[in-house]
Amino acid sequence: MERATHPEAASEAPAAAATNGKPEADTFDVRRPVDGSVIEAVAIDSPESVAETFARARAAQPAWEAIGFDGRRRWMEALRDWILDNQDRLDTLMQEETGKVRADAALEAFYCLDAINYWVEQGPKLLADEIVTPHVLLLRAKRSKIVYRPFGVAGFISPWNFPVILSLGDALPALVAGNAVVIKPSEVTPLTLIEMVRGWREDVGAPDVLHVVNGMAETAGALIDAADYVQFTGSERTGKIVMKRAAETLTPVSLELGGKDPLIVTRDADIDRAVNATAWGGLVNSGQICISIERVYVEEPVYDQFVDKLRSKIETLRQGADGNTYTAEIGAMTAPAQVEIVSEQVEDARDAGARILTGGRRGEGPGDWYEPTLIADADHSMKVMREETFGPVIPVMKVKDTEEAIELANDTSYGLGSSVFAGDAAEGERIARRIEAGHCNVNDVLVNYNVLGLPMGGWKNSGIGVRHGAQGIRRFCRTEALTIPRLPQAKSEPIWFPYNARKRGIVRRLYRFLNARGLRNRLGL
Ligand code: NAD
Repeated sequence: MERATHPEAASEAPAAAATNGKPEADTFDVRRPVDGSVIEAVAIDSPESVAETFARARAAQPAWEAIGFDGRRRWMEALRDWILDNQDRLDTLMQEETGKVRADAALEAFYCLDAINYWVEQGPKLLADEIVTPHVLLLRAKRSKIVYRPFGVAGFISPWNFPVILSLGDALPALVAGNAVVIKPSEVTPLTLIEMVRGWREDVGAPDVLHVVNGMAETAGALIDAADYVQFTGSERTGKIVMKRAAETLTPVSLELGGKDPLIVTRDADIDRAVNATAWGGLVNSGQICISIERVYVEEPVYDQFVDKLRSKIETLRQGADGNTYTAEIGAMTAPAQVEIVSEQVEDARDAGARILTGGRRGEGPGDWYEPTLIADADHSMKVMREETFGPVIPVMKVKDTEEAIELANDTSYGLGSSVFAGDAAEGERIARRIEAGHCNVNDVLVNYNVLGLPMGGWKNSGIGVRHGAQGIRRFCRTEALTIPRLPQAKSEPIWFPYNARKRGIVRRLYRFLNARGLRNRLGL
């Protein structure tokens, strides 16, 4: 496959504020995945530096909370407008550090624009005081309500595949809820986030409640120790380490981890739509999406037709560095180590007898490239059907019926997402309701992520907690339960001290009256 190159990808990129305004320290290099060259070195935040950053965030948080939803909305909308004004520059920087094609890089800003508008609109409604009507009649003399109060400073640890959506994007509801935020981006791709946090501080002039700290495990550990709430997005292996560390300080966590998302195609499905959806859902962002289509089950009568059409579709895709020309669909792989994993899984499938119909090789020359790959006749003996691939590889397996497809789709330790292509929506929904995963898109792929009112999170080893929807913002708050008197109050209550037989007798009869069923029984007759 020929690879397009567009030098403007590199020349347009601005220098990011690599040290984030901090004194010189140890550094790590950020590279261009398209050719492996170094963009720049970024200073590592020591545990002391992380603690100082949290102290600044903590100092700024009360005023941020106090300005209320309207005050915060003003700053969030200023950030939205800054992103709009700077999107080309941000997309270019994003491409440079991730190797994404332009269309995929642009998704990051699109998400933030939409999510800012969603959370500033919905946040005040989702976090409004909730009135609770007590189930016991006598307690209705009180007004009972749930109040949502921000944790304080929320910490985020994020991966390299969507460096902004999964860091700042996830932090938006925390900010709208009144928290300050400290983010540790992936050391593979920190530059666009650093630039956005600089923009918030210097260009927008917003309050000191959005911070970035850089580094690896030690920096992340210090963040967990200091945060009031931790959201981690990354691998299952690191997620377990994060949860253990957070247990030391009993800090609540949400974990958004890996997946092995299945896609089922029934014999009645619209095969052309299923093929186009599988190609995009499996290969967008070079397959480096936690909710990528990672394995496909197709009913026997349409299997050959599906595989042939999918091969033709994938063979039309262009791979390369497209600058801002939108002339490629598949970019580089962002993390060098991921190319090894993908390569190993494809060779394992080849050795076990699967047919590699297209792709199946690393790209030649410098950089981290792997060809878009279609594997036919896969089965569950192969790693590519059981372990997370996180690359541009689509393995397809023939099944005799939908029962077998559902059984195999659920035969995994993961449970992040899924898709079903069926002849009609009702049949699709029947199958969807039997899939063990946090979401299922009927006759579509990945689309649930854009419905911000829907919870997005994993079952089983794919995580704990959700982003998006009511839970997606309420998780950044502590609940406080209030009872407030409606009526003038007596000096004492019957259940308070002192105890005596007469008072306890009344209480006893009252509980019997309220909780027994049938009048005679209530009266103790
Ligand atoms: P990773 O687990 O290697 O790293 C994630 C983050 O954890 C990075 O910022 C890293 O520096 C940090 N980290 C490393 N060691 C740590 C430690 N000991 N303690 C605390 N933090 C530490 O993941 P990755 O390779 O960056 O990302 C790929 C993984 O992320 C895949 O498994 C993918 O499925 C998953 N992912 C999940 C979602 C989701 O929403 N469920 C979204 C995107 C990616």
